Amino acid sequence: MEGAKTVIDAKMTALAPGLIDSHVHPVFGDWTPRQNQTGWIDSTLHGGVTTMISAGEVHLPGRPKDIVGLKALAITAQRTFSNFRPAGVKVLAGAPILESGMVEEDFKELAQAGVTLLGEVGLGSVKAGYEAKQMVSWARKYGIQSTIHTGGPSIPGSGLIDKDVVLEADADVIGHINGGHTSLSERHVCDLCEQSSRAIEIVHNGNERIAIAAAKAALELKCPHRVILGTDGPAGSGVQPLGILRMIAMLSSLANIPAELVICFATGNTARMRNLNCGLIETGRVADFVFMDKAQHTAGRTLLESIELGDIPGVGMVMIDGIIKCHRSRNTPPATNVPELVN
Ligand SMILES: [Zn+2]
Repeated sequence: MEGAKTVIDAKMTALAPGLIDSHVHPVFGDWTPRQNQTGWIDSTLHGGVTTMISAGEVHLPGRPKDIVGLKALAITAQRTFSNFRPAGVKVLAGAPILESGMVEEDFKELAQAGVTLLGEVGLGSVKAGYEAKQMVSWARKYGIQSTIHTGGPSIPGSGLIDKDVVLEADADVIGHINGGHTSLSERHVCDLCEQSSRAIEIVHNGNERIAIAAAKAALELKCPHRVILGTDGPAGSGVQPLGILRMIAMLSSLANIPAELVICFATGNTARMRNLNCGLIETGRVADFVFMDKAQHTAGRTLLESIELGDIPGVGMVMIDGIIKCHRSRNTPPATNVPELVN
């Protein structure tokens, strides 16, 4: 980069694109009312995550469900998170939860106001396939990307979205295909992988057995490029700052997928699906990086082998837009080697 002044000795650690969490539920800044915690995004930066994508600001106490109110909240969330990056992390937010009665004009208005995402379809009153399909297509027409909730209800008040509704709605992302937490049957999840061509999103706060089955199904169908990873946090299970790293180690070790491929699920795949200028290390892309090395005393001889054995890597440094945001992670097991500043 022209004008760069900082020189870093990587000390033979691995440089990966910053990890992308495809499914989070932020509210305001670095506070989550779900478990009443502050600093969860800062903690997640220490898990190598540089970009988070909102699947709806659903945890806001008193969240408005009338149409004017839900649009106002989405626009507010889009604005606040584009004006302020908690701990430097890029949070793409402002994802309205669809309610019955919305019309095409609402989607046009949202798009004109800067909204680019829908919250999980199915978390509001729009639960029927035909209704979801209509709204997803209006959203698509105005350049708004959609994600659908898949599986049983997440918390009291939400509902079941089954395989047929997911297929009919045809959202861009099959959100938490492994449930959040309660999953559809393994057969129905495999049917979704096969019968839909949309992104297959696997999350940490879901059913782990089905996570493995979905990843294997995607590979058998020769479409690893469709797999993207999220945490679905903050959730009833808490916040998991290392959630994406844990998904990488879990899928690599238990679904027997090469570690380098699973890292692509959480970086380049998500960036391509979400049209983001990160996720790959390439001239012209933003410099969002995570430096990783094998954790101290792992049985693996290399970083990749340690992941394939089920260990999470140690993060030694995280950089966003070319600026160092943290050095040795306070949350991962200690990396064997960490990068050093030369000047
Ligand atoms: Zn959900």
